[in-house]
Amino acid sequence: MSPKSLLPTHFADFQKAVTDLGLEKFRAKQVWEWLFGKLVFDFKAMTNLSIETRNRLAEAFPVILPENIGIQTAEDGTRKISLTLEDGAKIESVSLPDEDSLTFCLSSQIGCRIGCPFCRTGGMGFIRNLTAEEIGLQMMSLVKICHSKPTNIVFMGMGEPFMNRKAVFGAIDVFTDPRYLGLATRRVTISTAGVPEGIIELANRPGEVNLAVSLHVASDDARSMLVPLNRKFPLDSLRDAIVTYIDRTNRRVSLEVTLLRQVNDQLSDAMNLVGFCEGLLCHVNIVRFNPFPSCNFRPSTEKAEKEFRKVLKKAGIPVTVRRSRGADILAACGQLAGD
Ligand code: SF4
Repeated sequence: MSPKSLLPTHFADFQKAVTDLGLEKFRAKQVWEWLFGKLVFDFKAMTNLSIETRNRLAEAFPVILPENIGIQTAEDGTRKISLTLEDGAKIESVSLPDEDSLTFCLSSQIGCRIGCPFCRTGGMGFIRNLTAEEIGLQMMSLVKICHSKPTNIVFMGMGEPFMNRKAVFGAIDVFTDPRYLGLATRRVTISTAGVPEGIIELANRPGEVNLAVSLHVASDDARSMLVPLNRKFPLDSLRDAIVTYIDRTNRRVSLEVTLLRQVNDQLSDAMNLVGFCEGLLCHVNIVRFNPFPSCNFRPSTEKAEKEFRKVLKKAGIPVTVRRSRGADILAACGQLAGD
């Protein structure tokens, strides 16, 4: 069996392990500064520790981060990492570098039980929830690979984050804790397929975590087909939860719409969306569909997308189009499937 990795151990546990080794308590803080401040993951390079201390730490913690990581890099610089967990399960996460930002897209579950028919993850079925520690592992593995902390984190990888709230909120608390990465909560976004109780719980939490809702279409019949969760939580209940989030946080909600040819890209769909958005502090983010083998859906044509946007703009709804990233390595939205 491979040795357990040091990260993501909580600081208090690490401090105890360090004093159990007979080392001074402050050594734990020094190591933490190397890991989370200077992003150095090798005891040998921690030069403010004596060689003897470094050796003792390396002996006690032979692995700082798991080595069982697969990395693929796309033409546009997007990287997909796949991490094999202790039970053999695989998770995937993505880093998206841009001129002045670095976004990490994290998974919250292995597979997903919602089963949206246009999503590769949905086709896997549900395997299990990730723990907060496993979410942290993804983050620190990406930090190590990119040699940088992220500017933004989005929970848009595998799974529905609000069906694993305890772990997701626990991981966010660690990422935003100044003793760890110290990220601002407003740099974190949770993307949901529409779990009203999760949205309300987020609204009641301290901090400024952003909310993105994968709406896709604003009529119940069509949405129940594209996002089967809609049968349990129809649009009315979803909209009420969004209103609560906006009332409590005064933050703009992002409504994600993946346009599928002749499925949800017609003018009537655009008009329904205008109706849904009325009175909401929101913007619509159009996501270009990334087809994958065995999928019957096709992306909208440019013309249909343009007409769709025109209707929203005319109604005064802010609308953006999200660039597709990493499609050549199956790292784009809806393409993660642990293979
Ligand atoms: S789109 Fe999101 S909610 Fe739907 S199956 Fe894929 S991961 Fe799950």
